[in-house]
Amino acid sequence: MPEITKEQLEFTASETTVIPDLLADLGSLAAADSLTGEASSAPEMEFENQLAMVRLGIATALYYALRTKHPPTAAHSLRVAVGCSAWAEWMGVAPEVRDRIEVAALLHDIGKIGIPDSVLRKPGKLSVREQLAMDLYPRLGCEILEGCTDDAEILGIVRYGHTWYDSRRSDDGPQRDALPLGARMLSIVGAFDSMTTDHVYRPAISRERALTELLEGSGTQFDGELVHDYCRMLESHPAKLQGQVMTRWLRQLKDKRDARPWSTAGRASSVSLAGDEAESQYQLFHRQLFDHMHDGVVFIDKEGNVVEWNRALERMSGVGAEAAINHLWTPDLVGLCDSQNQLVTETQCPLLQSLKSGMYSSRQMLMRVADGTEIPVHVHVSAVTSGVSETYGAMAVFHDASRQANLEERLVDLHEQATKDSLTRVDNRGQFDRALIELTDLATNSGATFSLIICDIDHFKRINDVHGHQAGDEALVCFAEVLKACTMEGDLVCRYGGEEFVVLSPGSDNPAATQRAEQIRAAIENTPIDSLNRKNMTASFGVTEYQAGDSPETLLARADRALLKAKDGGRNQVVQLGAGRSSDPETASGKTGRLSSWLSWFEGGDVGNTEVRMITPVPADLAIEKLRGFIADHQATIQDVNESKVSIRMSVMFSFGGRRRVDQRIDFDLTVQLSEEHTKRSASGGLQTSTVIDAQLRPVRGRDRRMRELTACTDRVIASLRSYLMATLVRP
Ligand code: GH3
Ligand code: MG
Ligand code: MG
Repeated sequence: MPEITKEQLEFTASETTVIPDLLADLGSLAAADSLTGEASSAPEMEFENQLAMVRLGIATALYYALRTKHPPTAAHSLRVAVGCSAWAEWMGVAPEVRDRIEVAALLHDIGKIGIPDSVLRKPGKLSVREQLAMDLYPRLGCEILEGCTDDAEILGIVRYGHTWYDSRRSDDGPQRDALPLGARMLSIVGAFDSMTTDHVYRPAISRERALTELLEGSGTQFDGELVHDYCRMLESHPAKLQGQVMTRWLRQLKDKRDARPWSTAGRASSVSLAGDEAESQYQLFHRQLFDHMHDGVVFIDKEGNVVEWNRALERMSGVGAEAAINHLWTPDLVGLCDSQNQLVTETQCPLLQSLKSGMYSSRQMLMRVADGTEIPVHVHVSAVTSGVSETYGAMAVFHDASRQANLEERLVDLHEQATKDSLTRVDNRGQFDRALIELTDLATNSGATFSLIICDIDHFKRINDVHGHQAGDEALVCFAEVLKACTMEGDLVCRYGGEEFVVLSPGSDNPAATQRAEQIRAAIENTPIDSLNRKNMTASFGVTEYQAGDSPETLLARADRALLKAKDGGRNQVVQLGAGRSSDPETASGKTGRLSSWLSWFEGGDVGNTEVRMITPVPADLAIEKLRGFIADHQATIQDVNESKVSIRMSVMFSFGGRRRVDQRIDFDLTVQLSEEHTKRSASGGLQTSTVIDAQLRPVRGRDRRMRELTACTDRVIASLRSYLMATLVRP
């Protein structure tokens, strides 16, 4: 059992993971492929091609064939190859060995070419016959590869990449440490990637959950020592390592590019495709903005013909866009009247005046609609020019002012003012705080879950410095629009303050919320902003799902910690932390009752003092890492560290009184003792390492009388500790 030090436990931002942009590309590629099962987009395919080409040379055709057959498998293979290579480098494996592992990993699922689509793409459970067909693919893969290479090491890795570490099959194949190192690594990285990716037959699980599964398979399905090593690698700098792999591959490819004129031609076409795609996204954004506005908008060209007529104007005037577009604009098209209710003539029409003079104006007017009623409108007109000289036309915005007259509407406006952010019109911080409390309460008292995404615009200070504060404000409005467009009904989008926004997504678990954040990240990156001279911004994201024992504060702190990691990792990326709801055995079994009811057998006679023993498949050094997260998110302080025992002081807030909540806090002393345990897992003698955690919790004030609150807070701390350490309770 390693000795714990205080430095190990205190959380510092500077030592967090680094995740370069390349990895984000690969992540989005995974998300797109695995969900839809469709081919990647053109620029993604180009990126995949480059990576595959440098590793496989002539055998690239095999990889292309696999992608044509089943895009998710090809994307999986690429991620596994990069993952294995990063790990090999981390372990200091010789470059020739590492290169073979990369090739084998890229092609380890090539046998799927021979599996019928009906089996490969089946959403449900496979029948026995189908499973038998599926089981054939590793062998098929070897047969295909034997036709292309006689490299025994590559073939060995592919052949045994799916073999269990303690395989007791009677065939004369190697077992345990006699299995090729590459095969043992491939089996781990492949399983991890598979578990953390959505499939047609099974949704993704969180990273932490997947790690636990690997640890639980230590010594049986996987090489236990390698699993521990892999977990340590993932806790350190995995993304940086993977980014380095891709950079190395691409650099090698670049060196060879001159000899491959055709690859340059391919690239040129894909570059223009990427440009087109950005352009069409931009147009889509403007079209949607235009059509979802509440105000009516008309745009006329310099001849006075109507070019644009949005939905709101259709609603207000009762005149459809088809009837108006391509016709000459006249003020009676919308029954435009002055404040005395007189129809205005063409010379009085503010839109035509603006077209002539190039001036901006704003007036109170009336719009007489088909049934003879008048709507009071604020009309804002301006010329549309290219700067100084050229005029393209003019536009008018009609704002329905009838609402202001209506008291009821005014109340609604007041509510809006109280709950909305005045600049971006998304919900404000107050709304977020209330919703977070409500959702946490709901999740605590039911099996429901939700996720929190925090995003912060990258280098926004610089944006203000370069483009001015006004342009910065407009960029914030634009950012909020993109955020709203990317979220679903029921999600709450709020401005948390400054250039930080949050999304609360009821019902979303870690993988779903991570995917959503990734979509938002990509949308932001691809949206040019007018006020920034059509440049785009980027943002960083922290994601976490509710987990047992969470309070609004711990959830927020965990998401914030993830955001900090994303910033530290180089920005423009998504980082997810936490094990999520599914790691909670009570939820998993459908039980949502109070923990204390089944915890009672742990408690001694001393009321308020609780002692529990839990066990986690996570090895001790990783458990310490997770304890760090617990301490940081609970804003606890370390009192003492003694060999393998840590004493912590923490405050637990609790609220009562329903709508009129009153917050109180109880201070606790928590002692956590860690010890490693080795158990024999399989008949073949595999050793499984787990960490046993003995936790003691007692209120600082010895005679705290708030019994009900005390029990509830104790439950919460224990549940939270369990979630963070991914542990289950055991009898002492
Ligand atoms: P990082 O990538 O680390 O997040 O860098 P940053 O520059 O975005 O972060 P920092 O927190 O240093 O700066 C945030 C800036 O956001 C500073 C502040 O002037 C600006 N800001 C905050 N609120 C507003 C606003 O309402 N309008 C404008 N234009 N700027 C704002
Ligand atoms: Mg920022
Ligand atoms: Mg900020």
